[in-house]
Amino acid sequence: MSNMKSLKKVQTYLLAECFNKLFIGGQFVDPIDGEKFPTYYPATGELLHELPKGKANDVEEAVASAENAWTEGTWAGMSAADRAEIVFKMAQGIEDNLEMLAEIEAADVGKPYRQAAMVMGGAAGEGKYWCSLGKALDAEQDLPVNSGGGEGGVPPEEWDVVYRRDPIGVIGLISAWNYPMNVAFRKVAPALVAGNCAILKPSEIAGLTCMFIGKLAKDAGIPPGVLNIVTGDRDAGAALANSPSISMISFTGSSLTGSKIMEACAPKLSQVALELGGKSALVIFDDTDLDKAVETTMKGFLTNGGQICTAHTRLVVQDSFKAPLLNKLKEELEKLPFCNDPITEKDRGDRAWEDGMTDVVQPIVCESQHKKVLRFLDEAKSAGVEFLTGGNVPDAKTVGNAGGYFIQPTVLVNVERDADVWQKEVFGPVLSVRTFSTEQEAVLEANSTAFGLASTVMSSDPAKAMRVANRIRAGAVYATSNGEGLLAEHPAVSRGGFGCSGVGRELGIGGLHEYTELKSINYTGFTLKDAKMKRTS
Ligand code: NAD
Repeated sequence: MSNMKSLKKVQTYLLAECFNKLFIGGQFVDPIDGEKFPTYYPATGELLHELPKGKANDVEEAVASAENAWTEGTWAGMSAADRAEIVFKMAQGIEDNLEMLAEIEAADVGKPYRQAAMVMGGAAGEGKYWCSLGKALDAEQDLPVNSGGGEGGVPPEEWDVVYRRDPIGVIGLISAWNYPMNVAFRKVAPALVAGNCAILKPSEIAGLTCMFIGKLAKDAGIPPGVLNIVTGDRDAGAALANSPSISMISFTGSSLTGSKIMEACAPKLSQVALELGGKSALVIFDDTDLDKAVETTMKGFLTNGGQICTAHTRLVVQDSFKAPLLNKLKEELEKLPFCNDPITEKDRGDRAWEDGMTDVVQPIVCESQHKKVLRFLDEAKSAGVEFLTGGNVPDAKTVGNAGGYFIQPTVLVNVERDADVWQKEVFGPVLSVRTFSTEQEAVLEANSTAFGLASTVMSSDPAKAMRVANRIRAGAVYATSNGEGLLAEHPAVSRGGFGCSGVGRELGIGGLHEYTELKSINYTGFTLKDAKMKRTS
């Protein structure tokens, strides 16, 4: 155990069974081969916990258990509203354990506690939103087909044709580490409300809070086998994606892995929903308030240490505004303190994140990601890219402790459009800057990568902001004069990626539909009404 008081406290939580076992068939079980793998505290590099290492044989057990639950049919046979009532208890469980879960996530990811608590509350609230859609899904069952008119747009009168939305079956949920609970519960809750049986495979980099979902499921009374959780590395994920019994993979992670998952699913033609990487642009016109522009830039690329799919890591600034913006940005970034104990990082007081400011620099999640970000910076240095600020690992004295995976907030200027730091997802506190003079050029720069997850246009001119927002190729665009709402998500607002950022949409009623198949039933000779009367008589 560590000497740090905060870390010791988290390690005490982690003694609970759910953080040490796989969850299969409604039971907490050891992995068949009995192996474990470590996770470290990003702020110090100390061992945080050892997790059970699920492998292909454990995945097979979990799939078999989900198949049994699916064949037995109790869960899929319930109304969505009844299922939602049970899932609601899980969402409530997140809220009831918020402080503990936020501390665990702060320790696992290196996220300042204040942000961890905020997003944990978001996961609970979003879970409740999915549950509120249970009744809406029931109301969509057996709806008469109506194409909305047009010649021949209504089926023949002697047919009684209705639509249903059925669950897909046994599905795999594979999640990323940057917002472990949010990403995982955003899959678990709608998948279960829709009536599927599922296997969740959290990220091996940070997935501790996802393990708690097993306890929540057990306590809420989810029938055995309906939800299973297998912690393990990419081999466990690949075993899940390749399993012939899996009818859908819902995946959140990198674009590279997304394409591998699509490949695994192709031979069996199973469904995929892919929430992938991004390289979002922040387009700033010179009629923007300078302070707001600086705040928004900082929040855009430093939130969660730049480890967020929608991180705005490309700044596209109007050339007349470049000098004042970059001067102020450099000054502000160089004042930022490092967050040397995320578990206890409550509030520095002067620059509240909720108000749009980024007040501390958090560590990178783990050693391998730290090395990956530094590799990007080394390559940029070798290629002669100009560094406005940052680019190095801060010394232990500046951070306040040694061994953590920190990187200085880094701004790269006059970056070439084909440079890796412009085109690829670095996933760290690194901002690349290019300029534009006309609206046309602004759009061209914003759309100049293969990604299309999110982007922002900032201007005090609403008509100009709208024109540019309409032409940006991204699943979520923010058009703003003050930066408010940047990175914000609402459960009712669907989002997803253009291009290499994904396939499908999450959130909103469309996000629930992703976990269903649309089916028509054509009653002839008797009607649906007859069938319903027979069922109840
Ligand atoms: P990753 O692709 O390395 O891993 C994601 C998950 O996939 C992990 O659970 C991993 O074990 C598993 N995996 C790896 N190889 C696999 C394979 N061949 N088959 C099946 N599963 C496999 O991504 P990451 O590093 O965990 O997460 C960061 C990435 O996630 C970033 O690209 C980020 O932009 C993206 N992300 C996207 C969203 C979104 O909503 N679009 C949200 C969060 C994160």
